[in-house]
Amino acid sequence: MKWRCTVCGYVHDGDRPPEKCPKCGAPQDKFEQLDDEAAGKIERSRFTNDLLARLIVLTREMAEIAEKGIKDELDPPCVGVFRQAARAAVEVGQAARAEIAVHVGRGKWG
Ligand SMILES: [Zn+2]
Repeated sequence: MKWRCTVCGYVHDGDRPPEKCPKCGAPQDKFEQLDDEAAGKIERSRFTNDLLARLIVLTREMAEIAEKGIKDELDPPCVGVFRQAARAAVEVGQAARAEIAVHVGRGKWG
């Protein structure tokens, strides 16, 4: 079962709502139980947000590898590939962070 704090939107997983909201301190009676559809949407959002977060971690690793490759400077074509990787890492990382921010703003983080 999922319970949402009607004050701040915090979502609690459990048989009962918490004594008070860990996020805003609202009392237990401010929680409402979510129906199966709403709970399912939150699970879906959590899954997607987790994928986006993992993608951000990978873009950091990609940026590090690209930086090493650019410094290594074996030959111009190789440097070109690493520069391309560095740009892609920044682009994908920023897009993923922006998407998570949109989800959080809409209360889709869960
Ligand atoms: Zn709250």
